[in-house]
Amino acid sequence: MSTPIEELAAALPDGVVVTDAASTDTYRSDSASFCPAGVPLGVARPASTDQVQTVLRWATRHRVPVVPQGARTGLSGAANAVDGALMLSMLGMNRILRIDEIDQVAIVEPGVINADLSRAVAEVGLFYPPDPSSWELSTIGGNLATNAGGLCCVKYGVTADFVRGLQVVLAGGEVVRVGRRTAKGVAGYDLTRLMVGSEGTLGVITEATLALRPAPEPALTMAAIFATAADAMTAVARIMASGMRPSMMEFLDKATIRAIQAYRDMGLPEDAEAMLIAQSDRGPLAPADVAAMGAICQEQGAVEVAVAEDAAESAMLTEARRMVSPAVDALGATLVDDVAVPRARLVDLLAGMEKIAADTGTLVLCPGHIGDGNMHPTVVFDRGNADAAARAQLAFDSIMKLALELDGTITGEHGVGLLKRSWLREELGETSYRLQQSIKAVFDPLGILNPGKVL
Ligand SMILES: Cc1cc2nc3c(=O)[nH]c(=O)nc-3n(C[C@H](O)[C@H](O)[C@H](O)COP(=O)(O)OP(=O)(O)OC[C@H]3O[C@@H](n4cnc5c(N)ncnc54)[C@H](O)[C@@H]3O)c2cc1C
Repeated sequence: MSTPIEELAAALPDGVVVTDAASTDTYRSDSASFCPAGVPLGVARPASTDQVQTVLRWATRHRVPVVPQGARTGLSGAANAVDGALMLSMLGMNRILRIDEIDQVAIVEPGVINADLSRAVAEVGLFYPPDPSSWELSTIGGNLATNAGGLCCVKYGVTADFVRGLQVVLAGGEVVRVGRRTAKGVAGYDLTRLMVGSEGTLGVITEATLALRPAPEPALTMAAIFATAADAMTAVARIMASGMRPSMMEFLDKATIRAIQAYRDMGLPEDAEAMLIAQSDRGPLAPADVAAMGAICQEQGAVEVAVAEDAAESAMLTEARRMVSPAVDALGATLVDDVAVPRARLVDLLAGMEKIAADTGTLVLCPGHIGDGNMHPTVVFDRGNADAAARAQLAFDSIMKLALELDGTITGEHGVGLLKRSWLREELGETSYRLQQSIKAVFDPLGILNPGKVL
């Protein structure tokens, strides 16, 4: 008699299911720190919606947990294995099925890499705005399931704002289409929006209809260095309140600036306390926009302001932002947070974080998408030192508590996953939390879809 996993392998084409430890190990975890990963039963790499249905029917029959996965760049442990689970890697379903220039939509499979879609639509003069920093690696399915944000979300919005409709395989194997293709539509509850950000706990996305926009003009950049972080934040508040719509508004705190300088000499001043990098993509209006943003920064006490005049200068000014990930990674193990607070509370967030760093004896960097109030406090620690790891966890938890105290959220874009699960109830409140449990029970009565994540 065959085992359940042998039964699944036999029901699917050769090679779709793999079970050897060397292969399955790769799929055990995403890119988050401090999140346990179980030992899976195997990995399925389906090539079609039919095959996903086969997997979920089998999983329902045998009560096997299924963990959907994209590129595993997630930062909350949401794609981590649980013991005995089948990992469902969607990377093989990576076709761009259609780009419709009249309706300005793209129909794609979930394994398409974000940057591949962006490049494909750019060829016909269109633009898919959601641009997580992981855009060269992460998949549209992962972006949808985490409602990913990114650099230009400050102007254009997050992934949810560009989703018209989805095809989803439900826990029992049934296929459902939610949403629509048209620009407008209000028929029934918005199940599309419910699926977006559900972290693989309500269904497996096998196709998405995404809204596109006409391609913007190339952006021009402004960068400003400040002697205090409070000045930089006041400048942001003034720029955003002025009616300007920057297409990027990023912040680097002093610890991040130092990490970048240590990683690569970019001529950033040693005593810089904060840096703002902002862009405008309004074509002929962009030079005036970046000049006006620069003027506000100067009035707000910036010690250095640089305004690009062309694409090459813009690229140079954004280089520091691009260096953040490698520079931070070079410091050691990191625990990346992504709290968001109202813009008016950003100064309090930064001050609170400095106190948390001092109280816990940890190094906390704080780059972030400041235009959205979404910061990435990053605790650096020595993974081999248990005391340092415990203090890092304490600092991380204190930052989430602080964000809630400041009327913010525990996660602006990375999701809850495993990492922030114990904090969700605190943010939502009892009634809202119970409603969410009820929704989960409707979609997944047996609890086989990505169990132990989010709720
Ligand atoms: C260097 C770096 C930079 C980053 N920058 C950003 C950023 O700027 N903005 C941002 O928002 N995030 C960022 N992230 C986090 C991460 O890239 C995003 O969360 C991304 O959306 C995850 O996509 P993925 O394909 O890697 O999904 P995975 O990590 O594999 O999975 C993420 C979640 O999606 C679910 N999932 C995946 N595919 C499906 C599917 N087809 N159906 C149902 N559920 C599915 C998984 O179960 C899991 O819950 C960054 C990560 C790194 C490492």
